[in-house]
Amino acid sequence: MENIDWKSLGFGYHKTDYNVRCYYRNGQWGEIEVSSEETIPMHMAATCLHYGQEAFEGLKAYRCPDGKVRVFRPDENAARLQSTCRGIMMPEMPTEKFVEMVKTVVRLNERFIPPYESGATLYIRPLLIGTSAQVGVHPADEYLFLIFVTPVGPYFKGGFFANPYVIVREYDRSAPLGTGIYKVGGNYAASLQANQKAHEMGYACEFYLDAKEKKYIDEAGAANFFGIKNNTYITPKSTSILPSITNKSLMQLAEDLGLKVERRQIPAEELETFEEAGACGTAAVISPISRIDDVEAGKSYVFGEKPGPWSEKLFNLLRGIQYGIEEDKHGWTLVVIE
Ligand SMILES: *Cc1c(COP(=O)(O)O)cnc(C)c1O
Repeated sequence: MENIDWKSLGFGYHKTDYNVRCYYRNGQWGEIEVSSEETIPMHMAATCLHYGQEAFEGLKAYRCPDGKVRVFRPDENAARLQSTCRGIMMPEMPTEKFVEMVKTVVRLNERFIPPYESGATLYIRPLLIGTSAQVGVHPADEYLFLIFVTPVGPYFKGGFFANPYVIVREYDRSAPLGTGIYKVGGNYAASLQANQKAHEMGYACEFYLDAKEKKYIDEAGAANFFGIKNNTYITPKSTSILPSITNKSLMQLAEDLGLKVERRQIPAEELETFEEAGACGTAAVISPISRIDDVEAGKSYVFGEKPGPWSEKLFNLLRGIQYGIEEDKHGWTLVVIE
């Protein structure tokens, strides 16, 4: 194993040995190629550079206490990438090939998979881009799909804790009929200003309302929202949020634990009634929310500095499944290294 101070790793880029690539040419995907190059030679008129024909995914490989390495629901990432591809007119990468490439890139970089005890993980970043030259606004003819990996540090250093979020009414991340439901880079470019502003104001992250009515909860910059009250897990239904695989999994686990699950519009004022609130995504699993300030509306919704009991239970259960500690009843994990 590499000699890295795993615990002090952040969420940055750390060079590994290999990445895997697959090219789409003449209407079909080619063979899987292994590369040790960190760069992509590309035409300056590539559609990904000018017109945002770019999709990405994010998942992790976990070195588990039983010595195996597991990946969480890669078939779901493949399905979401296919949905994104339909959304911005790129060819779909078949699930089988996607999963094969995930396995290959994790195995090839085994020495960079952090030890279990460190809390660090191997982050897996699939990327699909339009590469052929085009000046008119049309989809490209040629594409590159690649996956690289990089070790990332533990999200929670010094225990599971809650963070403050802020509603940003003067920015939208995505439009109701726009690309918010797709995992494309443009949504992130659109969120950078609001994200920087939230950080400058001392918040962990910005929080968006629906762009049309500015009435309902959408999501945080890169994480879905859920709230808990009256033994019910409640998460927004919206056409402008990214369908989080973590959230989908938490909804199932909440049901397994005997909670009711509701996916519906959540008016911002309803935040007042939640006993617990959290942001969820691959990076943190659950990032409990201590309070959400709505500065312009002069309101502050407080959930407490300590994570709530259901948030803690759900966090431990999902993390336990990812690490092969809890029983994987739904068959979510894929053992990549025995
Ligand atoms: C990736 C992403 C999430 C989290 O999705 P997971 O599959 O749970 O990691 C949430 N919101 C946005 C905007 C995202 O891009």
